[in-house]
Amino acid sequence: PVRTRFAPSPTGHLHLGSIRTALFNYLLARRTGGQFILRIEDTDEKRTVPGAEERIIRDLRWAGLQWDEGPEVEGPYGPYKQSLRTMRYREHAEQLIASGYAYRCFCPAHELRAKAEARLKQGLSTEYDRTCIHIPAEESADRAHRGETHIVRLKDPTHQPDFRDLVFGRIRNETRKLAAPAFEDPVLLKSDGLPTYHLANVVDDHHMRITHVIRGVEWMISTRKHVTLYNAFGWTPPAFAHVGLLLDAQGNKLSKRDKAFDIGVMQAQGVLPEALDNFLALLGWSHQDGQGGGKSHNDFMTMADLERKFNLRLTKTNPVVNLDKLWFLAPKHAAARLAAGGPAAEALVDSVFIAVQNFIQDIPLDARLPITSASPEEFRAYVAAVLQVAVSRFTSAQQFAADHQYFWLLTGPAKIELAAPANVQKLLNGARSGVTEERLDPNVVRARCLWAMGDVEDAWTVENLTAALDGAIAKLGKEHNAHVPEDESKAIARLVWGYLRGWIAWGMHGPGVVETMILLGPEVTLSRMMSEVN
Ligand code: GLU
Repeated sequence: PVRTRFAPSPTGHLHLGSIRTALFNYLLARRTGGQFILRIEDTDEKRTVPGAEERIIRDLRWAGLQWDEGPEVEGPYGPYKQSLRTMRYREHAEQLIASGYAYRCFCPAHELRAKAEARLKQGLSTEYDRTCIHIPAEESADRAHRGETHIVRLKDPTHQPDFRDLVFGRIRNETRKLAAPAFEDPVLLKSDGLPTYHLANVVDDHHMRITHVIRGVEWMISTRKHVTLYNAFGWTPPAFAHVGLLLDAQGNKLSKRDKAFDIGVMQAQGVLPEALDNFLALLGWSHQDGQGGGKSHNDFMTMADLERKFNLRLTKTNPVVNLDKLWFLAPKHAAARLAAGGPAAEALVDSVFIAVQNFIQDIPLDARLPITSASPEEFRAYVAAVLQVAVSRFTSAQQFAADHQYFWLLTGPAKIELAAPANVQKLLNGARSGVTEERLDPNVVRARCLWAMGDVEDAWTVENLTAALDGAIAKLGKEHNAHVPEDESKAIARLVWGYLRGWIAWGMHGPGVVETMILLGPEVTLSRMMSEVN
């Protein structure tokens, strides 16, 4: 069975690229009916950040990438945290010393540093000069036994192995073409007895029966060392698939400082994790139905779709992250949640409700709509109704609350300019129906619409309100003329609906004008329409 893993080091929190790597591993395991393993690679004590592990665990769960084996779940090949496995690494290092693939190096660290610096100054590579490779086995064991500080190094072979990458194809050994072969002899065990990344990673991938390693291309330079290690142990290496780095619009590696790409910021904004997963899955993976780059409707995929379709058709290029695509996918995921109902839908409503509460929190009470002071249940139900009608405009909960502020606030950000659209202006200049500027004056339009709305006797519905307003609009054109050419009546309608949106929604985008009026209710709607009537 396929077994994949995500092996983060708790040196900080996950960024978009690491979530994507975890996602690819997760999806491959799901698609193939295999297992996805989480392993914490905390061998570098100095770089371990307190709390980072908990945060990684939380972020992965948030993203919906639940592991089958790993911390808190455990499993047959645990523990899944390298600091709890140190004895194994030591045993394996000893094994390689015994079989002649590794050796102890007693060179003091400061000496190694000085040598490396000297070589660097001469323009040479900083590789180890192999002083200790010649120490006889017995003497080496003896010195170690007496407690002499040492590290363990892997003997770099003269012929480094080629390997096949599932994305990049065959990776050939080029370094050895150098005239003077240089040996890196990578460190396996540090002087404190803790393993390096290379040793721990290989030992664990083997013992945890990992079959596929999908990881960032920045690790590809290590892979040859890893293959050397597998060979030394007599183990079969897993299949490797290295994936390109994520780049920003300028072509730079995503910066940790760029808040737009920060997972924590996205969580706080109320970005939907399934939308993010969908977005990240398309960065470097070209699914059959479409291409990742544009905005194709085929690109909308639920987690279940991804789990069914994902494969290793990954690109070698470094994908550019353009969040527009995420905002294109987000409303589809929000709508899917609402349509499905249940806890996921409730959680979405909750997150929007919280975002709305945060949005209005600094606004004085008398500048908010009365509904915001109703009982939490009523207010939440109102927010849910707004979300239902405006879900096609959902990007994140925070953005939704700001974009739809006319549903929570009493007054708009500024006085709205009711500029007539250009085509209406053109109509007024050359109107064949005799419609004049005076007749389409905002105050005239307002009065006509108010009359018509006042004539609606029953509770407002989309039907009766639309009929009333359509009637008012038709009359505006027809008053003196039996016939209004269709293009003119369309232009008039567009102008009037624009005015109405200006009054009730402060000209901001949103759901249909009539739907907005119904949500706001007659009291708020009519007072907004009348507030400028003298
Ligand atoms: N611990 C490494 C990291 O932090 C794992 C790299 C790998 O997947 O082998 O990304």
